[in-house]
Amino acid sequence: MRIYHLAAECYPVAKVGGLADVVGALPKYQNKAGMNAAVVLPYYNRKFVKENVFDVVFQAATLLGNKRYYFEVLKEHTDKLGFELYLIRIPGLLDREEVYMYPDEREQFVAFQLAFLDWISYSQQTPDIIHCHDHHVGLIPFLMYHSRLYSRLANIATVFTIHNGQYHGVLSWDKFNYLPDVDLNQTGLLDWGGSINPLAAAVKCAWRYTTVSPSYLHELEYSSNGLEYLFYLERSKGSGIINGIDTDVWNPKADPMIPNKFTPAKPEEGKAKNKAALCEKFGLDVEKPLISFIGRLVLEKGADLIAAAIRRSLFEHPGEFNFLMLGTGEPWIEQQLSELKNQFPGQCNVFVGYDESLSHLIYAGSDFLLMPSRVEPCGLNQLYSLRYGTVPIVRATGGLKDTVIDFGDEGGYGIRFNNVSVDDMSYSIGRAIALYQNKPHLQLLRKRMMALDFSWDRSAKEYITLYESLKNTL
Ligand code: ADP
Repeated sequence: MRIYHLAAECYPVAKVGGLADVVGALPKYQNKAGMNAAVVLPYYNRKFVKENVFDVVFQAATLLGNKRYYFEVLKEHTDKLGFELYLIRIPGLLDREEVYMYPDEREQFVAFQLAFLDWISYSQQTPDIIHCHDHHVGLIPFLMYHSRLYSRLANIATVFTIHNGQYHGVLSWDKFNYLPDVDLNQTGLLDWGGSINPLAAAVKCAWRYTTVSPSYLHELEYSSNGLEYLFYLERSKGSGIINGIDTDVWNPKADPMIPNKFTPAKPEEGKAKNKAALCEKFGLDVEKPLISFIGRLVLEKGADLIAAAIRRSLFEHPGEFNFLMLGTGEPWIEQQLSELKNQFPGQCNVFVGYDESLSHLIYAGSDFLLMPSRVEPCGLNQLYSLRYGTVPIVRATGGLKDTVIDFGDEGGYGIRFNNVSVDDMSYSIGRAIALYQNKPHLQLLRKRMMALDFSWDRSAKEYITLYESLKNTL
């Protein structure tokens, strides 16, 4: 079965968050399971692109409103990622370094989608499935089924995966002229709340939509930034498939980004050495429990309450633990965390920025990983931390709820709390400190969590079953 995955991010080509990890792994595992999956991304002028060889496989021009853009489709020469990788390059629009945040971002992603559809319409062989990920490529199902220009694609099944339902990519209706030759009787499918809403359009038009965890599928019905009623109406088309992790990249036995490798059978020594390396780097005390946070510093992640919760915990348990943070995001949250660092030198440290290698060392060398998310569609950090024997401390929401069992419950291995509050967080930190002091118990939990299987094999097969059910309806 031929599948095209379309997204804005894909590890290691361009990564901002978990979307990249999924798009970089799922197709590889689908191919291992006998599929023929490829990835199509916008062209980014970044390290991976500069260091690899690409062939031009298609060239044409597309119209965005009244502007004509020349584009080319480039294919990575060796399929080294375990799938065919295609990049769409549009000089002056899709040839920049950053993934997001350009003032003409909407134009960038609409042009990307149109160029993809132009290319596929001209191809001799059309795919069986077009799998779109998040709102950046949410207009594709609508255009395939309701634009005369792409009528050749109208029988191809589409799947839309929601990695984050808070962002919709809304466009005002005055941008409608970007969309070519659309059936005017169907424009209501594009609309939600008086704007063109690509996320809503994809949920309405794709044959099926999925979320990256079962709990998140239900949560969208009462928290999705205005689309709650839509998710309620369309619920029969939705399913939740938990993300996996790429065990080729996230493997403590062979991870080139950590100085000391370790196995699930004997994790203690390797973890201790990684912790020592981490503590030395950040001036922390290796004897104390190390609680870390990695992620985007935004409200969604509960990052705004971390400084207050750590401060409270350090007053309640003076000198009893260390805290380390790796992240970047809202400047006011970065500021709060920098103040925390200044207030507790030698106990708290923060690294403001994005650093893939450091993240691996933190997963490997920490004792606990804090995730106080308000919203967490799946969450990969807790899965990486489980694999590296680091106890996740999570708020029970979305994928965190589906993947972390509290160590107080039968078969549990993590720490869960219910409210995004300083109270709940500092109470959980207290539990973590007590657990750290009970070494045999901590070691037992480590073994238990490292034996869990969150590899992509299972989830990739669930997607394949979904595709097959769609092929059978044709
Ligand atoms: P989201 O996609 O909402 O940001 P996920 O938990 O799904 O959250 O995925 C986050 C991914 O991004 C993980 O691979 C995590 O390690 C990585 N990450 C987030 N922030 C940083 C950072 N500052 N440096 C390195 N990696 C980061």
